[in-house]
Amino acid sequence: MALRMHINYPRETEMDEQRTNRLTRRGMFELGSAAGLIAASALSTAQPVKAGPQSGRNFEPLPDFKYSLEGSGGWEGPGGSAKEVTVAEFPVSRSIAGVSMRLTPGGLRELHWHAIAAEWAYIVEGRCRITVFSPNGQAEVVDFEQGDIWYFPKGYPHSLQGLAPHGTHFVLAFDNGQFSEFGTFSITDWFAQTSAAVLAQNTCLRPDVIARLPKKEAYIVQGKVPAGELPQFRNKQIETNQSPHKYRMGQQNVVSFEGGDERIVSMADFPAQSTLSCAVLRIEPGAIRELHWHPTADEWGYVLEGNAEIAVFGAHGRSKKDNFQKGDVFFIDQGFGHYVLNTGSSDLHVLLVFNNPVYQQISLSSWLGANPTQLIADNFGLSNAAVDNMPKELMGMVKKS
Ligand code: MN
Ligand code: MN
Repeated sequence: MALRMHINYPRETEMDEQRTNRLTRRGMFELGSAAGLIAASALSTAQPVKAGPQSGRNFEPLPDFKYSLEGSGGWEGPGGSAKEVTVAEFPVSRSIAGVSMRLTPGGLRELHWHAIAAEWAYIVEGRCRITVFSPNGQAEVVDFEQGDIWYFPKGYPHSLQGLAPHGTHFVLAFDNGQFSEFGTFSITDWFAQTSAAVLAQNTCLRPDVIARLPKKEAYIVQGKVPAGELPQFRNKQIETNQSPHKYRMGQQNVVSFEGGDERIVSMADFPAQSTLSCAVLRIEPGAIRELHWHPTADEWGYVLEGNAEIAVFGAHGRSKKDNFQKGDVFFIDQGFGHYVLNTGSSDLHVLLVFNNPVYQQISLSSWLGANPTQLIADNFGLSNAAVDNMPKELMGMVKKS
């Protein structure tokens, strides 16, 4: 049976071996009891297995999980600039891509949509105005300021325009690591690719006007700074969107811990945000966002302010640690253990995006509290008294001891 599978279904056989290894390991090293050893030996006679962790099975080293987004090159024009990080630059980040965009006052990221990704953004600095149009015929024109977030579902057309006199900076995240290469559709690009005859028929523009249209994608153009009050849609019959694309994350209640605080926004808070959740963390100098993982989501992070040490734990004796500063991006695979330590002398602010609309996490402190003392003592070979010193409840952000 196993041999036949090996010949015909190598992938399944590999999965089978992984499953068997896992069961064997659990039997021998986690149960640690006679029953466990019997279970393990029964397994090893029933199926051909490589024994446990010493089997010599090789695991790839963990890939780099840091990318210096603000230190990279990018697009620059009169209306603004953009730097992006996709799987092309940052191979580990398969599920989330990011862009750091700056717009001048009046700088307009032109009308466009993304075919393969939803767009999320956080306003770091300044103010901007967006337009977005939904397939149900409703539209929105709305202003954003520092701490606000937006979410545009996949395929919804939108535009972004800077309002602040000293410029506007926002960080965008997309729920697909390949969004850019295969998925940004700009209106000027489309027009440039369409014959003058078809454009004349569809846009009602005169041929001499069509001849003056951009010959390729404009991307960001310098527009006029719009007036303070929100303008009307060209079609006055259009209904304002009943399900807003804006959420005031900065105004949300903060959850405080001894070493810092966090704001978490899931779909329960912001219904439009249907494929992602997000968070902003503030970690005090020397404090740590404690050891934890996210059972159902990859984590993409952008350092807004300060300095951090982040380490990921990837099982099988693998871990990786790196140092981060303002403008750096990190990516942590679903289920991988990690922590964030503030190594600087001022508060560390981190922006986080998760590729699941429901936010879940498991932290070390609450996990330890959810087990009997004796079990933890046995697990580590400690005395019960030593275990009594360990945390029992969620610490979240642990201040410097
Ligand atoms: Mn966009
Ligand atoms: Mn995390």
